[in-house]
Amino acid sequence: MKVFKFGGASVKDAIAVKNVVEIIRLFPKDKIVVVISAMGKTTNALEVIVDAIWTKNETVFYEKLAEIKAFHTAILDHLFSSGAHTIYTELDRVFAAMEMQFKGEISDNYNREYDQIVSLGEVISTLIVESYFRETGLHSKWMDARSLIRTNTCFRDAEIDWNCTEELIQKNVLPIFDQYPIVVTQGFIGHTPEYLTTTLGREGSDFTAGIFAYCLNAENVTIWKDVPGMLNADPKYFTDTVKLNKISFNEAIELAYYGASVIHPKTLKPLQNKNIPLFVKSFIEPLKAGTEIQQSAEFDTLVPSFIFKLNQTLISFRTRDFSFIVESHLGEIFNKLSALGVKINLMQNSALSFSILVDAQKINMQSILDSFQEQFEVRYNEGLELVTIRHYDQPTIERVTAGKEKLLEQFDRLTARIILK
Ligand code: ASP
Ligand code: MG
Repeated sequence: MKVFKFGGASVKDAIAVKNVVEIIRLFPKDKIVVVISAMGKTTNALEVIVDAIWTKNETVFYEKLAEIKAFHTAILDHLFSSGAHTIYTELDRVFAAMEMQFKGEISDNYNREYDQIVSLGEVISTLIVESYFRETGLHSKWMDARSLIRTNTCFRDAEIDWNCTEELIQKNVLPIFDQYPIVVTQGFIGHTPEYLTTTLGREGSDFTAGIFAYCLNAENVTIWKDVPGMLNADPKYFTDTVKLNKISFNEAIELAYYGASVIHPKTLKPLQNKNIPLFVKSFIEPLKAGTEIQQSAEFDTLVPSFIFKLNQTLISFRTRDFSFIVESHLGEIFNKLSALGVKINLMQNSALSFSILVDAQKINMQSILDSFQEQFEVRYNEGLELVTIRHYDQPTIERVTAGKEKLLEQFDRLTARIILK
């Protein structure tokens, strides 16, 4: 059995959905779990809907709802010849559920409400794609990941209950394959023990593919992308990128961790544990080899890869009495940061100060100042970039830092990390 994951860009319009069918048709002998994300930028649009529900903003709610309906209806109109097809009523039901949420009572937990609404993007996309599969003669079955993936109640960033999920998936999905070669399900979503919907974090559909593969002992996973594979740099910013043909799980985990956006960082660990290879391939040129991520580290060092994180803030803490920063201070600093939900991209200590680098968009500078200022002198420097170079060499360092001021550098045997201004 194989697991295929199609992201938002690969189902962004009717032509893209037709292309998905073409790809599935390349594998007539396989059993395939097809994991699909919300279409195009639907998740962002649904985030606006959540805010409108939360703030009871009727104008914004109905405007956005109309936009989301129109977007999906246009895709339906291209895919299905008859407006009487049952898919239209199925989607109407989902939209009606959104309206119910708007009109009804909501809890005082924003993240919980967020998950109930935002998850519907994946529900809609899978209903459409799976219907279209059947329309074109593929023998497929729609399955609801909200009853297969069990998580905790940490809404918007839910953690997987692996034992329970494995049991649910094996019990419910395996028998389906006796009758259908293709199962279509949603990325990104799961459920709590009380059957409330959860989401696994933005861009979490890759992770879902990893979860299904792990639980079903799949032969391999393919993530179909609009790039030819994993590249050594982001093609949005660099033209002469090189494809990594074959790299190890560890290497891919490091690259994803440092911010390579091709694969969600949580995806790889379960696959590595069961030695299930992951392919990253182009949905535009599906017959090309792409990148293979697998156990062997033999080919890891062939090309230096570099990853930029933009919009970084460097924050440094000094004790108010000019004493050295010792372990007890560090303990306190970490506790406060953890309480504030701050995620650290890089850190460094010296005798008198401790510095961290964070994503400006993910922190609230004022609350950090409020929480630390009594005990520490806090300074910060905004608008920075962090570049991470795996398998660095001098030419690559020069290339990526050209014309910029280096504020801080950290090197180990394999990785260079440089903060740039
Ligand atoms: N639709 C979700 C998002 O946009 C999940 C995903 O695409 O992986 O974040
Ligand atoms: Mg996506």
